[in-house]
Amino acid sequence: MARYTGAVCRLCRREGQKLFLKGERCYTGKCAISRRGYAPGQHGQARNKKASEYGKQLRTKQYAKRYYGVLEGQFYHYYEKAAKMQGVTGENLLGLLESRLDNVIYRLGFASSRAQARQLVTQGHFTVNGRKVNIPSYLTKAGEVVAMKEGSRSLDSLKGIVEANSNRPVPKWLDLNREALEAKIVAFPAREDIDLPIEETLIVELYSK
Ligand code: SF4
Repeated sequence: MARYTGAVCRLCRREGQKLFLKGERCYTGKCAISRRGYAPGQHGQARNKKASEYGKQLRTKQYAKRYYGVLEGQFYHYYEKAAKMQGVTGENLLGLLESRLDNVIYRLGFASSRAQARQLVTQGHFTVNGRKVNIPSYLTKAGEVVAMKEGSRSLDSLKGIVEANSNRPVPKWLDLNREALEAKIVAFPAREDIDLPIEETLIVELYSK
């Protein structure tokens, strides 16, 4: 399946919730969900909101997938990995998605959106434990240190992004040193530290069929 390249606000309207795909705009009154909080398309406003159990499971999975910008195959791979881990599969799944390097960069405020974080990682602006990592799906682990590369810190474009996102709350599983532009991964992300308004058990039920 190819990556979606259409108008991203349509995805939020389809899910009926914010996916935070457009950076700063998502936090303003210009957000399409604030202005037109109904599904896109000719019959969006009239659409019957009562979904079947399968429909709810599917929408929950789609929401999480789009929130993290992950394709179907990758998403299922995370589910399989989560199911083999100790603990609750749904919580493990969200923890794995949160641990992706692109998400960590976004959570630290080093990017305005996960899409931008993916681009910046691919361009090689970040290191993990001192070594350049340009793979957005890289899974960070407790104890590792994620940092902006020395040569990237002086770039005006990156300085501007960091400044613009300096007020975004950083989850407690990340220990950010804002001056040094680096952070230590303190722990595997716990469910209570992930601000994702979904019932992840619905995804597990969907894949368990
Ligand atoms: Fe979604 Fe952001 Fe567009 Fe709002 S502005 S609809 S949160 S992508």
